[in-house]
Amino acid sequence: MVLYTPGRTSSYPDIPVESGIRIHFLGGGDEVGNVGVVIEDEKSTRLLIDYGLAPSSPPRYPSEAPPVTDAIFTHTHIDHIGMAPWLVGNHQTKLHATSLTASLSRVMWKDTYKVSSIEGYPLPWDRRDEDEANEAWEVHNYSQWVEYHNWKWQLHPAGHVPGAAMIEIDTPKYRILHTGDLDTRDGPNSFGAKPVECDILLLESTYSGKEHPNRVEEEARFVAKVVEVVERGGIAIVPAFASGRGQDVLRILHSSGYDLNVHYDGMGKTVSQKWLEHPEHLRDGDAFEDAFRWSKRVRSKSDRKRALEADVIVTTSGMLDGGPALWYLNRLRMDNRCAVLFTGYQAEGSGGRKLIETGSIPIYGHNVEIKCELDRFNLSNHAGHSELVSFAEACNPKHVILFHGDPETRPILASALEQKGMTVHCPKNGESIIID
Ligand SMILES: [Zn+2]
Repeated sequence: MVLYTPGRTSSYPDIPVESGIRIHFLGGGDEVGNVGVVIEDEKSTRLLIDYGLAPSSPPRYPSEAPPVTDAIFTHTHIDHIGMAPWLVGNHQTKLHATSLTASLSRVMWKDTYKVSSIEGYPLPWDRRDEDEANEAWEVHNYSQWVEYHNWKWQLHPAGHVPGAAMIEIDTPKYRILHTGDLDTRDGPNSFGAKPVECDILLLESTYSGKEHPNRVEEEARFVAKVVEVVERGGIAIVPAFASGRGQDVLRILHSSGYDLNVHYDGMGKTVSQKWLEHPEHLRDGDAFEDAFRWSKRVRSKSDRKRALEADVIVTTSGMLDGGPALWYLNRLRMDNRCAVLFTGYQAEGSGGRKLIETGSIPIYGHNVEIKCELDRFNLSNHAGHSELVSFAEACNPKHVILFHGDPETRPILASALEQKGMTVHCPKNGESIIID
């Protein structure tokens, strides 16, 4: 993958749409994350949905977006929102999302900028673009149509994380639904997404061909492991993403009824404060607030030392690529009563993946052996294979476009949907799909 150079690497076709709808993937076609899709019709009405980056080292970027007046963001994960400041800085694009997504974007961009400075990878946008982007938001409630040239569009809850939205676009020819990241199951903090009838469905396919274990049972297995670790005198270290997973873990532990001493560290604390400012986006705002206040928030160096006497430490980064998690791991690495409980996907090349595969992990420049127990739990907030199939069937589209998928496994979902009579498209990055 070529490193993104603004102004040089646009894959966007420089020709008008002859007829129908053109759906072009700047990124996030045959890969998970790094999303950007442009939808345009023959009247040159054009919208961009999501514009993110992949926070690998070095980061990867979608190809350059063409000029767009308006972009809609499905949710606040960095692989969907990370390049929005570039859009505003270069094209003065107006940004649209739910109020919670808009409010969290500020936290996410700030962190992305900080990480890039620490790691020495220059971003394609700077502080000034970021400031302009913070002012470029227009926020929307769910189920409220927005007129847009000869189209109109509205947002629907997408599950996944609080504030996440699916986008329904009504064009003269077709009704289109873009799912963003999707979960149809109720999670600890968000309600599952409901299908929307459409002609063209853009469906995320992260879990194509993969089924989740029963969520209730998996949560119970997680709690049981935490209790086991605590009873033998150890600490359960739970690396968790700042936006979604950490808060889910707090809710699960709090509602388990066990008397646990849980410390919460990292950027998730700031994200949680934003959640509490927008309780209408939470499945149960009061219950989340109780769980958050129940945890001991780590705010200082001395708090961090105190956390070494905790039962559970929930902290970033979710893939052990940095953040306070490494500080704790370094302190507790020799203690085999402790355990690292992974609750999320560990990407190729991440610290978490290295730890699982080799039993050691780079910390502050040294490869360190970890004696703690390692265990993995599936607390995913993406729909699994069967849920994706049922969701697509209930939307009853003619065309399905599978994006945000692993090229190896995506064909499994494609053939399942083809068997149900849908026409399925599997775009690669840089490809356009034209539906006449
Ligand atoms: Zn996401």
